Amino acid sequence: MNRPLRWVLVGASDIAATRMIPAMRALGQEPVAVLSGSPERGRRFAERHQVPVAAGTLEEALSVPADAVYISTTNELHRDQAVDAAAAGRHVLCEKPLAMTLDDAADIVRAARAAGVVLGTNHHLRASPVIRSIQKLVADGGIGRPLAVRVHHAVELPERLRGWRLKNPTAGGGVVFDITVHDADALRFVLGREVLDVTATAVNQGLAAPGVEDAAMAVLRLEDDVLACAHDAFTVPHAGTALEVHGTDGSVFATDAMTQDPDGEVVLRRGGTSTPVDVGPRDDLYITGLRAFADAVHGDGTPLATGTDGFASLAVALAVRDALRTGTRTPVTPISTLEDEAL
Ligand code: NDP
Repeated sequence: MNRPLRWVLVGASDIAATRMIPAMRALGQEPVAVLSGSPERGRRFAERHQVPVAAGTLEEALSVPADAVYISTTNELHRDQAVDAAAAGRHVLCEKPLAMTLDDAADIVRAARAAGVVLGTNHHLRASPVIRSIQKLVADGGIGRPLAVRVHHAVELPERLRGWRLKNPTAGGGVVFDITVHDADALRFVLGREVLDVTATAVNQGLAAPGVEDAAMAVLRLEDDVLACAHDAFTVPHAGTALEVHGTDGSVFATDAMTQDPDGEVVLRRGGTSTPVDVGPRDDLYITGLRAFADAVHGDGTPLATGTDGFASLAVALAVRDALRTGTRTPVTPISTLEDEAL
């Protein structure tokens, strides 16, 4: 029986409080320290969530005996924190986007490799029973040759999250780094193919600060000429999320597919007949992700999304941002760049 992981939480964040700490505790894992840039917020967070140590610096946080570090600060901080955590010998689970630039993401991957620690990117959708059932269906040839994917990921950003995401591009605000990056990972996972190039348009529909996009549509071309489109927004209250994958022999439709909860129904349409797809146990996504991460730490498999996956989804998000700026079809930097550099 492996000893449950002890975690240092880097970032007194909403996602740590609402999803990750409960998921850790459900698995018997324990947060042993939290790092906040604000002593008062750190102390309150530690008290509220019964975390023994509220650290004021990363050095102090990394001096607490622990196995792994979970990074959920704003995005511009991920690189330095992940590199330092890896160098201190801690396994690292970092929130998406892994970093803000590909150089920074590559630095994180390199640091983890050099230290021999596990690196995961918290793309929770890979743990979704709905997404996993679609991935399996596609991989098993259930829809024939995949032709197209439609990602419906336009939501209304909850009030409590209307801070840096809407106001601060320096911290990685905007819908592309927040939502499109998840779509990119889900597409790569479901199709087992890389995104080659993208075109995109984004607007400000009045929720985000001027200059920050709160709604975007992207068209993505993947390997084998699979096309995908994604509608991502913070501004749409009633659409619900969905994922459709269309192939030569069938189409699969999933409702509530792009969420944080194990909701959603999957239907396969083939030959004029629609059949519900059994998605299996509806386990909590964050528990599933943390279980896989712990298994990887104990030598069994890899995190659901690795550092390389974090690099790849960031590469797509950055290509979308470039396409928004230039208005042109933009190539996605391939993972081979990372492999060439990092090995
Ligand atoms: P939060 O805004 O809750 O926290 C981010 C940082 O903001 C914290 O590290 C904290 O700094 C600071 N902060 C938190 N509350 C306050 C406050 N009241 N006043 C001032 N500063 C505050 O971010 P999220 O939890 O929404 O996102 C954190 C990361 O997680 C991002 O990278 C995001 O992309 C990712 N994320 C991933 C999700 C997933 O499902 N995979 C879902 C949601 C977010 P300090 O630590 O210094 O106290």
